[in-house]
Amino acid sequence: MQMQAAILWRQGEPLVVESVDLAPPQAGEALVKVKAAGVCHSDLHPARGDWPIETPVVLGHEGAGVVEEIGPGVERLRPGDHIIFCWAPACGACQSCVAGRPVLCDRLERTTYRNRMPSGGTRLRSNGQEVYHFISTACFAEYAVVAEEGAIPVPPEVPFDVLATVGCAVMTGVGAVIRAARVEAGSRVAIIGCGGVGLNMVQGAAIVGCERIIAVDVNAAKLEIATIFGATHTVDSSKTDPVAAIRELTQGRGADYVFDSVGLPTTVAQSLQATGKGGTVVLTGLARFDTLASIPTFPFVMQEKRLIGSVYGSGQPQIDIPRLVALYQAGKLKLRELVSRGFSLAEVNTALATLEHGEVARGIILF
Ligand SMILES: [Zn+2]
Ligand SMILES: [Zn+2]
Repeated sequence: MQMQAAILWRQGEPLVVESVDLAPPQAGEALVKVKAAGVCHSDLHPARGDWPIETPVVLGHEGAGVVEEIGPGVERLRPGDHIIFCWAPACGACQSCVAGRPVLCDRLERTTYRNRMPSGGTRLRSNGQEVYHFISTACFAEYAVVAEEGAIPVPPEVPFDVLATVGCAVMTGVGAVIRAARVEAGSRVAIIGCGGVGLNMVQGAAIVGCERIIAVDVNAAKLEIATIFGATHTVDSSKTDPVAAIRELTQGRGADYVFDSVGLPTTVAQSLQATGKGGTVVLTGLARFDTLASIPTFPFVMQEKRLIGSVYGSGQPQIDIPRLVALYQAGKLKLRELVSRGFSLAEVNTALATLEHGEVARGIILF
């Protein structure tokens, strides 16, 4: 079929919205009509050239839609199902999957992170050329063909604009708190960077029952949103030293957990310094591909600090995504408040630029 999609032909250049050919779903795959797609820093980084990527590629990895058609052998999806895209479609059979860590699935490295379909190859073509599917999703498009594991059914009564961010920002942020760090009630936590992921770390900390939730950002508007999500204190790090501020807000001890959703050498250093004795830094931010951060070894060892990486919420997307939607339905998870602006697919470059300039919590593309 022919459909409109946003193609990145060359890194550093704008995306081009044009007609693309999409092949029908093969065995184990489904055709999804995209209804809403979130615009994430993980779309911006490859578009700008911060991360290497083969082109041409259709970006977009966070969103929701309706199953239109299923390929042979698909068991978990039916046409008409409302779904959230899961950009870590795990094989279910490799060592990591069997060990209960599907976000570390070996197949992701072989195909998904190389922007192929999980089973290999691509279903997209333009001008006779193969076009890749960004992390096996490619939802900056009217339609997407994804693996069965890449589409998670959700209740049809929840609107698509609300569902748009669950499959990446919410999963990554809430999961970092609940799954990766297993933060205990009463903890004192700090969150550095209050974009889509950081705001969800804030609300994850609120759900868990943290006593003190210190939100840090250079953008005052984002800090204001962070208080809506449950931050008890905010620190504008463009004006105040965040390490000193976090120490002061924790009686000089430092935070029990510091979450770094930015991933720059400076924020990693700040996170380690702002963590108290026996505390944990959780790093989810991915800035440039070649970023290196350093650790002052003496306080790290003598104060038994821990530094852990967390990808995609370190959890089980097949369980966690429906659970997050259920939390929203129970009034315990904010989703609508995350979306500050809607765009059309034709405005995709504006949506990326708006994210780049830090003007929004989350922009979404609506179809
Ligand atoms: Zn993302
Ligand atoms: Zn696997």
